[in-house]
Amino acid sequence: MAKRIRVVRVTFDRIDDDFVLTRNAPDRTAPLADKRIHLIGAGAVGSTLADRLVQAGAGKGRGQFHIFDPDRLNPENLGRHLLGVTYLGLNKAEGVAHYLKRNRLAMNVKGHALSGAQADMHRDADLVIDATSAPNIGAMLGNTARTLRRWSLMYVFVEGEGWVAGSYLYRGRAGEACRNCLEPWIGGTGSHVRKTYEPKPRDNGCGGSYTPYRAAAADIAAALASELACDWATDSVVNRYRSVRLPNAPKHVRDGYYSSPQSKVDCICGEPQANSSAKKP
Ligand SMILES: [Zn+2]
Repeated sequence: MAKRIRVVRVTFDRIDDDFVLTRNAPDRTAPLADKRIHLIGAGAVGSTLADRLVQAGAGKGRGQFHIFDPDRLNPENLGRHLLGVTYLGLNKAEGVAHYLKRNRLAMNVKGHALSGAQADMHRDADLVIDATSAPNIGAMLGNTARTLRRWSLMYVFVEGEGWVAGSYLYRGRAGEACRNCLEPWIGGTGSHVRKTYEPKPRDNGCGGSYTPYRAAAADIAAALASELACDWATDSVVNRYRSVRLPNAPKHVRDGYYSSPQSKVDCICGEPQANSSAKKP
């Protein structure tokens, strides 16, 4: 009598990085893997961007992904933040890093409960991303980037009450407009909002103020920035400035556009840096 053999059928699903990260990329690569990326600001825009960057390889391979934000996640943040109620009360940067490790298996991600406003924190970065919309941090990073030319700097922003979303890349190459040349502040040539039409912040009832905009504007800004970061990583950037005007923006808001702004005459960003240690992606 033949011996009965029990057969157990086992199936496997791939979940390795090479499969997850490259199957949806047109060129079958994860461009941000192996890069050292510092993201400053883990609010509505920064948290969504962090998720998209990891889906393009950030925090994978030999790369490092550092996220900076000193603030805690509060109930008023839930309407447009990546994180939900289970993260309430936790630091935003540390919470986003935890989320990315747990849900995206990005093990080389670290959150820092710090502003990231000290330039020497970013000494080893390849790409620094400013998602704070804080003028003082933007100015500090912009001045450092054009002086040292050691890392590339990307801004990601929402203007007005979600009227425009955009991103801008400065690589420190001679002739590329720096932040000062771009004048991204309201009323500046690089702003879509004229000075007399700037939105009025609303009182949040706890002594602070905020500018309302829907989560979709943050999503669009994050999407533009994640694509720009991928183009940076593959050294295939066509337009370094990319902005989108949302359809419900008031008439006075300038249209979005794609371009590569050049240095203004007399700005030091127009000159080659003799001691530059700027590196290509
Ligand atoms: Zn300049």
